[in-house]
Amino acid sequence: MNLFEYQAKEAFRENGIAVPKGVLVRSIEELDAAFAVTGFPCVLKSQILRGGRGKLGLIKVVKNAIEGKATAATLFASEHNVRMILVEEAVDMAREIYLAVTVDAVAGEMVIMGCAEGGVDIETLAAETPEKIITIKVDINEGIGSYHVNNLVYGLGLEGDLLKEVGAVARKLYKVFRTCDAQLAEINPLFVTRDGKVIAGDGKLIVDDNSMSRQPRFPLTRDFFDSDAEFESAQEGIPYLTFGGDIALMCAGSGLTTTVFDLIYDAGGTPATYVDFGGPNYTKAVRTMELCLKTPSKVILVVTFGTIARADVMARGLVEAISVHKPSVPIVTCIRGTNEEEAFAVLKEAGITNLINTEEAVSMAVALAAGRAQ
Ligand code: GDP
Ligand code: MN
Repeated sequence: MNLFEYQAKEAFRENGIAVPKGVLVRSIEELDAAFAVTGFPCVLKSQILRGGRGKLGLIKVVKNAIEGKATAATLFASEHNVRMILVEEAVDMAREIYLAVTVDAVAGEMVIMGCAEGGVDIETLAAETPEKIITIKVDINEGIGSYHVNNLVYGLGLEGDLLKEVGAVARKLYKVFRTCDAQLAEINPLFVTRDGKVIAGDGKLIVDDNSMSRQPRFPLTRDFFDSDAEFESAQEGIPYLTFGGDIALMCAGSGLTTTVFDLIYDAGGTPATYVDFGGPNYTKAVRTMELCLKTPSKVILVVTFGTIARADVMARGLVEAISVHKPSVPIVTCIRGTNEEEAFAVLKEAGITNLINTEEAVSMAVALAAGRAQ
């Protein structure tokens, strides 16, 4: 799970890494109280789960409350679905450094990475002058030692107090990485102030999804989702994605689903949503269709190929889901796999012609979505 900057910074602060004084707000009304804490100038930082916010104009320095409120209003109204802003005291910085701890999955080791030139252009720098990025491998059983830290800070060409300060931050960042079960703990930029202090200007923390049960401090909240439907589904363990097109897809498994996606686009259609109707969810047709209907679509396309998930169970579930929800859009099915003869019979009795061929099902759904009735 990719966390918000303010959450990463909370973890940094708890592990002794200095971060700017800041207050999280969710509305314009909360700004005055935040400004009272940070003073001016302060930085309005849009809390969204993607990088490159500075270049997108989503990080703004403001000088007074009037400018601050007007700027916050434009951030909240932007196309990037900003629902939270971290208001932080502005840091008067002299330079920016890059620091990160992550996993080298191929080598099976942890790596500490650093660059003496941090900031918003780190991706360009990594592509054009990769030798400027210092990478130090750390054996996870051994942990971080002076040897690793020294190789990092000398490699970065640092000296004196700054060398010690950055080395200390690297050790603390490694601790954040381990205690949070992270896949990535990153500080970019690590500000160096004019009086030589180091402060984490930004924070990125990705926690391993398999460790979420060990990390109750990072609960799955509505903040991580664009819609109520996606949030509800995630809580129930039902994968749910929205795409803004026409065809709602109840499909089983990522392999078959990506294939059906390709077929939809190939046939000139667009997916509206994908709800997983397979694996542990194959018996949940009523709930799956309810979630499916929360996103507008012109047709529902059901494509499954069950092995352990039985086709007849899915067909019966689907018939029940139709009688419960009475969807107003047409439904195209291609439900196959274990016990499929029975699935065909069950659907036929309900007046549905179950298709044998996936391509045929997709082209029928695309035609129906385009208003070309079949
Ligand atoms: P990102 O673009 O999503 O990585 O967002 P950041 O939090 O890294 O902010 C982008 C850039 O804004 C930073 O690299 C800094 O150059 C600048 N910035 C952010 N906060 C401050 C601040 O307090 N003082 C100064 N001088 N620059 C800031
Ligand atoms: Mn950044």
